Amino acid sequence: MTSSRSIVSTSAVEGTERPAAAAGRSALTGCPWHDVKSMLRDVGLRPTRQRMALGWILFGKGDRHITAEMLYEEATKAKVPVSLATVYNTLHQFTDVGLLRQVAVDGSKTYFDTNVSQHHHFFVEGENDLLDIPMSDVIVGKTPIPPEGYEVARIDVVVRLRRRAR
Ligand SMILES: [Zn+2]
Repeated sequence: MTSSRSIVSTSAVEGTERPAAAAGRSALTGCPWHDVKSMLRDVGLRPTRQRMALGWILFGKGDRHITAEMLYEEATKAKVPVSLATVYNTLHQFTDVGLLRQVAVDGSKTYFDTNVSQHHHFFVEGENDLLDIPMSDVIVGKTPIPPEGYEVARIDVVVRLRRRAR
């Protein structure tokens, strides 16, 4: 048995890992509200009320995959006064600073992942469910050699699933 972890991570992750964000996330224990504030400060974002509220919803429940619409719905339920446009903007700002990872499943569906470490996904078609593929399952065995002057920034694999016909 070879270790899959070394195969996947060595080639692709170099230069794209965000230790600051990852460290900030793992420190999310005990008092999420305070943690969200320092998390935002750490990446240079002003902790506005809306960012704080959305960050709290996003990061207060462990690793998750969420679309803008899902977050908007949760925010509305939590009586956070935000527009869908603000939710979009905030998600993209969080992504730009490395707090979130964007996973594009197809042209119309984009998920935001609070787990920014290198990993791949299953997408359950029809159920719109995004699941992490365990790191122990190798997907990319050999990284293709990029054209001259380029380096591999990241490898995203989405494996599409459908229910077996009976
Ligand atoms: Zn994920």
